[in-house]
Amino acid sequence: MQTSATPTHCPYCALQCGMNLTPVPGGTVEVSERTDFPVNRGALCGKGRTAPALLSSRVRLTTPLVRSGGTLVPAGWDEALDRIAEGLRRTRTEHGPDAVGVFGGGGLTNEKAYALGKFARVVLGTSQIDYNGRFCMSSAAAAGTKAFGLDRGLPFPLEDIPRTGCVILVGSNLAETMPPSLRFFTELKENGGTLIVVDPRRTRTAEQADLHLAPRPGTDLALALGLLHLVVAEGRVDEEYVQARTDGWEEARAAVMAHWPEQVERITGVSVPQLREAVRLFCEPADAMVLTARGPEQQSKGTDTVGAWINLCLATGRAGRPRSGYGCLTGQGNGQGGREHGQKADQLPGYRKLDDPAARRHVAEVWGVDPDSLPGPGRSAYELLDALGTDIRSLLLMGSNPVVSAPRAAHIEERIRSLDLLVVCDVVLSETAALADVVLPVTQWAEETGTTTSLEGRVLLRRRAITAPEGVRSDLEVLHELADRLGVEKGFPTDPEEVFEELRRASAGGPADYSGITYRRLAEENGVFWPCPQGEPGASADGSVDAHPGTPRLFLDRFATADGRARFVPVSHRAIAEEPDEEYPVLLTTGRVVAQYQSGAQTRRVAELNAAAPGPFVELHPRLAARLGAAEGDPVAVVSRRGRAVAPARITTAIRPDTVFMPFHWPGEGRANTLTNPALDPTSRMPEFKACAVRLEAVRK
Ligand code: SF4
Repeated sequence: MQTSATPTHCPYCALQCGMNLTPVPGGTVEVSERTDFPVNRGALCGKGRTAPALLSSRVRLTTPLVRSGGTLVPAGWDEALDRIAEGLRRTRTEHGPDAVGVFGGGGLTNEKAYALGKFARVVLGTSQIDYNGRFCMSSAAAAGTKAFGLDRGLPFPLEDIPRTGCVILVGSNLAETMPPSLRFFTELKENGGTLIVVDPRRTRTAEQADLHLAPRPGTDLALALGLLHLVVAEGRVDEEYVQARTDGWEEARAAVMAHWPEQVERITGVSVPQLREAVRLFCEPADAMVLTARGPEQQSKGTDTVGAWINLCLATGRAGRPRSGYGCLTGQGNGQGGREHGQKADQLPGYRKLDDPAARRHVAEVWGVDPDSLPGPGRSAYELLDALGTDIRSLLLMGSNPVVSAPRAAHIEERIRSLDLLVVCDVVLSETAALADVVLPVTQWAEETGTTTSLEGRVLLRRRAITAPEGVRSDLEVLHELADRLGVEKGFPTDPEEVFEELRRASAGGPADYSGITYRRLAEENGVFWPCPQGEPGASADGSVDAHPGTPRLFLDRFATADGRARFVPVSHRAIAEEPDEEYPVLLTTGRVVAQYQSGAQTRRVAELNAAAPGPFVELHPRLAARLGAAEGDPVAVVSRRGRAVAPARITTAIRPDTVFMPFHWPGEGRANTLTNPALDPTSRMPEFKACAVRLEAVRK
């Protein structure tokens, strides 16, 4: 047994904290501090600290399962893989290639996301592939691409945050979602900077703020417009910057001037003096930033909402400058890389567009196929899930648990149940895996090598620290075996570095260019920021070709648009898809708690985390609770047009009286996503997780 520590990264969120792993008896590892990684400098949250628990857990899957007589029973790998191949072949023959769907995840490594996209298009020939990252940050990606010509979550390293003058943090509770990142904001304040938090709840993050703005859920678009209106009215526009580096200001300005502060106060509930104070704090320092997260993004107008915050940055000259900029705090472990290399419905590796003939030619050449054989863009995540059992008859699912995480989850569960064939690759029997016809047990983070790309756009090497238990195979091995059974014998290597070498070539020349990044560099340099094109041979000291230093800071000289100028996108406020009414008079917003991660498939199975956050709850204001006659801990039913969820009341003045909050990590009776609205943003196809109309009902104990 290897005994030395392996430097690697956490399996969970997009901060990708560095950690050292040392093998210990029992098939698991011990986590120790890794101080050389600048993002967390050794600090970890409870999720990262306890991540090894799942490696040797009793609930870990170590043998394939196949459905027989209605129940899942253990099977050999060959039997399981043969059954999958036969089922996929039958679906293709009877219903055509687009009747096979593929659903990936933002937690998959770059190599897996790349191989999954290639598998869908080359082996299955289906256009029907998307992933759960669509639920996560796609609105920010769409808005960033419109404005800057490129989407990279943060266009600067986190270490720039303490050096700016003011940060507006919109819809992020990072004190709970990525606690070690809080230190950047603490340092910001220690350096004399200010923090403004925009959140309907007084979260642990909002408690750190110099100014907390608590708009009604779904009105932060109006809030951003109101702030920009005041910027214009108070003569704080950076005219020189706007002239030199942007286009479209006059149209955006005209749209903003219709949003009077008093009107914005009526829409958002944020007072005019608070709006003025926010503008003062944001505009007075020489540098400032806006960071958005799921709050503004998970809306049916998420792209416009993020666009409004970007407009605020552009008008005040806070983008593409040192210590100033707009960024999106991506959530999932490989939320950034997972959206760059081909598991998205409209995309090819390197962040290339699937409908771009030149991109198709380039990638088809790397893959050794005819460009015309590549399918076109397919459905987005929710639309794909909604088509299960009708247009899509078989589904291959990796790294996702939509029974808990999809909006209108009861409906999606019903769709999943109606499939002819569901194949799930997972480490535990998640709620979705429990419905599968075949479940394949796969390796976990500490048992495999691969790369991820953090929220900073920093490509990182996660290293294997221990050997996987017998009976478990990697996702890459699964794709290799299935491709082989479906007649594609070459092109699906099982060695992650070999996959990465191909990814480098596929991404070369694309917006997310990884061609200058190698495993060796990642090991030596503690990560490399993309874009990192391949350098000239002999350019580096050792004569190798990978000399480009990477790009920690984007847009300093020019934006990634054709002419190098950023674009204002004129946007106006509009209501959420489902406003409260007499029947459903309260707003529901959803989110996360510190001890659980996403659908909870992994973290709910870690005893320490489960003890800290054992179940769902309904957070509500004392006034709402009194109207309902509910005391702390009483079961409360939350009812929307899509279903009913019941969870204990958590009564607090930290939430607006017109809003309730539920975390979404749990299945069953307290599943928050039973209630959420799948209304989609027209550009990003992001569902409106963050706001829908509900009514509350007291539940007899
Ligand atoms: Fe892992 Fe994120 Fe926690 Fe860091 S903050 S330890 S990356 S879950």
